[in-house]
Amino acid sequence: MPEITEWRDRIWRYRLIGSRCGGCGSTYYPPRNSRCLKCGGDLEEVELPRRGKLLSYTVVYQAPTLYKYSTPYIVGYIELLDGTRLFAMLTDVEPDEVRVGMELEATLRKLYTYGESGHIVYGVKFRPAVG
Ligand SMILES: [Zn+2]
Repeated sequence: MPEITEWRDRIWRYRLIGSRCGGCGSTYYPPRNSRCLKCGGDLEEVELPRRGKLLSYTVVYQAPTLYKYSTPYIVGYIELLDGTRLFAMLTDVEPDEVRVGMELEATLRKLYTYGESGHIVYGVKFRPAVG
């Protein structure tokens, strides 16, 4: 797992930046650098809505080393308000509380601790929406 130093990486991790196709309007998260998978059109960066609902989920008990500290954790398949679908870790909800259809919002949280320096990498997770 490379250390995150690129400015553009930081931007899309801290805000919810995706790609939208100028041809067919399809959206992608994380953003893609190449062309639209559906029509081959050009993609541009867009800020995606931070709210959505849970379509399905998986509870992860056997995690890669970087994520072992947080097991069990939940990976959700989420549909944002604009229809963008993505996978993301959920937070602030226990496996026995999670429900398909629940309203979620993006939040910035620790993803993992990197290397012996203990450098903490943050990124977007989703939590139950408040208000
Ligand atoms: Zn397209």
